[in-house]
Amino acid sequence: MKTIKETQESLRKGEISPDELLAQFFSRIEERNGEVNAILSLLEKKAKEIGEKDEKAPLYGAVFVIKDNILIKGESCTAGSKLLEHYRAPFDATVIEKIKEEGGVFIGKANMDEFAMGSSTENSAFGVTRNPRDLERVPGGSSGGCAAAVADEMCNVALGSDTGGSIRQPAAFCGVVGFKPTYGTVSRSGVMSMASSFDQVGPLANNVEDAELVFETIKGKDHRDSVTSDLKRKKVKKSIKVGVPREYFVEGMEQEVKEALEEAIAKIEKEKEIEVEEVSLPHTTYALPAYEIIMASEVSANLARYDGIRYGLEFERPAAQTIQEAYLKNRGEGFGKEARRRILLGTYTLSAGYYDAYYIKAQKIRSLIAEDFDEAFKEVDVILTPATPTLPFKIGEKVEDPLAMHLSDIFTVTANLAGLPGIIIPCGEKKGLPVGAQILANRFYEDVLFDAAKRFEKAWQK
Ligand code: GLN
Repeated sequence: MKTIKETQESLRKGEISPDELLAQFFSRIEERNGEVNAILSLLEKKAKEIGEKDEKAPLYGAVFVIKDNILIKGESCTAGSKLLEHYRAPFDATVIEKIKEEGGVFIGKANMDEFAMGSSTENSAFGVTRNPRDLERVPGGSSGGCAAAVADEMCNVALGSDTGGSIRQPAAFCGVVGFKPTYGTVSRSGVMSMASSFDQVGPLANNVEDAELVFETIKGKDHRDSVTSDLKRKKVKKSIKVGVPREYFVEGMEQEVKEALEEAIAKIEKEKEIEVEEVSLPHTTYALPAYEIIMASEVSANLARYDGIRYGLEFERPAAQTIQEAYLKNRGEGFGKEARRRILLGTYTLSAGYYDAYYIKAQKIRSLIAEDFDEAFKEVDVILTPATPTLPFKIGEKVEDPLAMHLSDIFTVTANLAGLPGIIIPCGEKKGLPVGAQILANRFYEDVLFDAAKRFEKAWQK
């Protein structure tokens, strides 16, 4: 697959016309989507706008699939939920506006776990997405549709959201690059909230260069998202130190993943100007429980808006006689199992008496995790970890066991807890399935992260 810049070259030279470029992607979708189910709705009109774009725009020739929790004006936006099956977006998300301005176009909306809750895209009300590398297996989640679309060449780049790993874990499972920016560098305006103190939008791409290009376009302060700020450029060093945290090579990790990571580390150790050393992040074991509690708490508050009045199922009116009945009908029939499970858990952890015991405790752990990273980044420039503890698992394998499912996020949630940027790069294959490595950098050190990521990507492609 060509990089976005290479595609631009071909378009400028007339080797391919914008229409032909689009036709390739549309025919790929037509051919494959019946099986893969990565795309929920097609945006033919929006994609055609490519003909009106400035050839010199940075994202000219970038054809995007957009996760179905990001608003594109006038288009369907379901968040993978039955509740929003008929919802139409009233405005463009800031990230969508920015991509449009810089020349990118949108070809489809991607399947996802309902309200971005899941690690396999099996929680969508619109059917599971299959991993294009092996159709019996999940693509990861919750941005599974995006990852599958990129891996299966239905687009050349996608935009997902990451609350605990939802860009990175599916990128690893489908063998593509996935990047979660520093919290607060990309606007969440027009992105359906899951857990607001974790949510970030980022690209899934074929290579690090494309991911960086998209990030450069979507980042920046936005008055519609008050936590956003502009990124200052950081100095990139010639010689970098890479930390490998011993706590990330946990028991229960699949042998194949461990081996692939060890081989990947051995390869970068051979590179000049890269030094690898062990680091320690002592509070890692508490990360997943802390994430689960804070995430569910925020989910329970954010999902309260789907009450059947502002947003909800479409019933013939009057659907209910009382407010209570309307809530029960909409929320009871509209939400899937996982959404209900998390709303219940979050309501519990935020209730009087339990708030101190669970929510506050989890917030304290969150600070300790962030401090672990602060310490580590005094010693090293970036941190290298596995992306997931297992290879992509079989469809159905973990649906009845939410705890096993949540373990898929064990290596990714720490970046959301600490607000760090993290990128997944395919680093090898085992049993014919892709294995991803994760690189983390300090908050706002995207420049350093992308520099390291490009060096590693090169080393792993050799
Ligand atoms: N898989 C994680 C969860 O279900 C992460 C979700 C996400 O990042 N949106 O909570």
